[in-house]
Amino acid sequence: MRAEVFRAWIVSAASVIGEQRDHLTQLDAAIGDADHGINLDRGFTAVVSAIESAAPATPGGVLTLTGTTLISKVGGASGPLYGTAFRRAGRALGDAADVDLPGLAAALEAALAGVQQLGAAREGDKTMVDALAPATAAFSKAIAEGASDADALTALVEAAQAGAAATISMQALKGRASYLGPRSVGHEDPGAASTALILGTLRDAARAGQ
Ligand code: ADP
Ligand code: MG
Repeated sequence: MRAEVFRAWIVSAASVIGEQRDHLTQLDAAIGDADHGINLDRGFTAVVSAIESAAPATPGGVLTLTGTTLISKVGGASGPLYGTAFRRAGRALGDAADVDLPGLAAALEAALAGVQQLGAAREGDKTMVDALAPATAAFSKAIAEGASDADALTALVEAAQAGAAATISMQALKGRASYLGPRSVGHEDPGAASTALILGTLRDAARAGQ
């Protein structure tokens, strides 16, 4: 996958975040401060402009610019966390012109490590980690077991979606939702939901680019 696949991914992620902005904000209204969709939509709109004007030539350049822009444009917890995830993924890809699925899996592992280093959330704490960690694990496992690219990408997205759905029954232990204690149970975590959406667009862009 070359830079244009990664540009298509980010543009498509921005479009889905825009479509789902109100849904993500409603999820955050239940257990946070009702700004997650607004935050991400503002950030990804700025990312698309930045990518269109800079047109980074490598996959790593696309992801690094995405992360840097999210950090500068998105306040709240999710900006630095997503920003770090994309910057770490970009750094992991280095200046390669073409990225294969094992390279993408390594980048996702680096993104997860960055999120956990910054936010200190573990699986089960009801955060974006509950979508990103199982997705990354399922993707790497599928690749190691020799799955086709299509099947590995399906495993990535299905694990992210299942992980996001599983946050409904969790009590939040990190982030703003943790202030609610047991009252955070019964609602999907907005950051886990947005992670599943973003990884869904990665699958679609990767498929289209093959
Ligand atoms: P804020 O909570 O500052 O209003 P957002 O509403 O944009 O920021 O994002 C909230 C999301 O951020 C949560 O749903 C959760 O997934 C994620 N989040 C919050 N704190 C952490 C953390 N420490 N580690 C990982 N993700 C976190
Ligand atoms: Mg919020």
